[in-house]
Amino acid sequence: MFSLKGQKALVVGVANEHSIAWGCARALREQGADLAITYLNEKAEQFVRPLAEEIGAEIIAPLDVSEDAEMDALFAQISEKWGRLDTLLHAIAFCPAEDLHGRVVDCSRKGFATAMDISVHSFMRMVRRAEPLMANGGSCLTVSYYGSVRVMENYNVMGPVKAALESTVRYMAAELGDKDISVNALSPGPMKTRAASGIAEFDKMMDDVAERAPTHQLTKLEDVGAYAAFLASPSARNVTGCVHMIDGGFHIMG
Ligand code: NAD
Repeated sequence: MFSLKGQKALVVGVANEHSIAWGCARALREQGADLAITYLNEKAEQFVRPLAEEIGAEIIAPLDVSEDAEMDALFAQISEKWGRLDTLLHAIAFCPAEDLHGRVVDCSRKGFATAMDISVHSFMRMVRRAEPLMANGGSCLTVSYYGSVRVMENYNVMGPVKAALESTVRYMAAELGDKDISVNALSPGPMKTRAASGIAEFDKMMDDVAERAPTHQLTKLEDVGAYAAFLASPSARNVTGCVHMIDGGFHIMG
């Protein structure tokens, strides 16, 4: 029904084969997109590079979003090699452990600022750099979680952080709509990734979904990948400003 053949996609957030970004990268590639894949640092490179090479990524580059120079260099490389970008996928989040594990009431100023910078403002910085490369329109995607809307045990300050991310999606969608650039968030249910291992009692969250979601199924990488590939396609260009729940219907349950 749609093809991404010849499209250029930047995927940020692959840490290993369990990463949501990896599921999306694979699906984008399967539909024909050419990929740029980033790794956080040298330590991460040894895990990310083989995966990126496995699916023939044309650009493999470092990106720690707290380093503006690295982000500039990445977009310069994309501009030079491709001269355009069709899809940006931002699948990263971070919060210092001591703030993540405490009450929202007790979250430190520094921890909150760091979590917002890496998990939210980095998306704005990337979209800003992507905009001139999306002269023919494009799709900007990020990854959120339902803890933005409802209080989820142990999700703590990442709830407010994801709420900010989702609001950012709506405002940027409104700002970029007339350029045919869509901005959306994917919101999967709990998935066993490295980031998830930082959340206390994560298995309990997964058990809850398996028990209460209408499908009784946990979200798989393939579920998120397929949805991302569709939203990346021109067929979905009129879909913007949304948070797309990919959670077996968990969010409709009382
Ligand atoms: P993951 O650990 O595989 O990915 C997190 C990524 O964030 C890693 O690749 C890490 O390198 C990257 N990152 C952290 N700090 C960074 C920085 N300064 N610069 C660049 N990259 C940085 O875990 P994941 O679960 O795939 O997480 C991806 C996204 O999905 C996150 O936004 C997360 O909140 C969201 N999410 C996860 C779940 C889940 O249950 N796993 C559910 C809903 C949403």
